[in-house]
Amino acid sequence: MNSIVIPLNGWAAGERLFRFQAGLEFFQAFDNTEILDAAVEVEVKAVKEAGHKVEAELHLSGTVTVACDRCLEALVLPVEARPEEVFKPESPAEDWDLSQAVYDYVCLSLPLQKVHPEGECNPDTVRFLGQGERANEEAGASANSPFSALKGLFDKK
Ligand SMILES: [Zn+2]
Repeated sequence: MNSIVIPLNGWAAGERLFRFQAGLEFFQAFDNTEILDAAVEVEVKAVKEAGHKVEAELHLSGTVTVACDRCLEALVLPVEARPEEVFKPESPAEDWDLSQAVYDYVCLSLPLQKVHPEGECNPDTVRFLGQGERANEEAGASANSPFSALKGLFDKK
């Protein structure tokens, strides 16, 4: 299992740091097909007060790999999130599963536009995928010709 569970019992009041690795399996467990690979370190700073009150802060850092929106090649995105939210367990008696919160915050930390920096996309795939679009813009109605797309292949380079 690859879930992020904090034991609520068995440690004295005070502060305690828990560390987990959220890898690909962790994201697959949420049926996420967008993330192709992942290496996210999850740090949970849990504070237990007398009377079994527990609170925790999360710190997520690492990388996830997705497919670039522009060239479809692997794109490694940095993950760095320190949610301001203070997490509290629903029941202080059971183990505390933070998997959903971690998953949500990793996904939230990803940019909407997942593309390589300008100039770092695979030029072959971009040319292949982008040709139809460009032909439409440049040639207008004649872009419907099956040959206009082919022409784009030989124009450059
Ligand atoms: Zn790209």
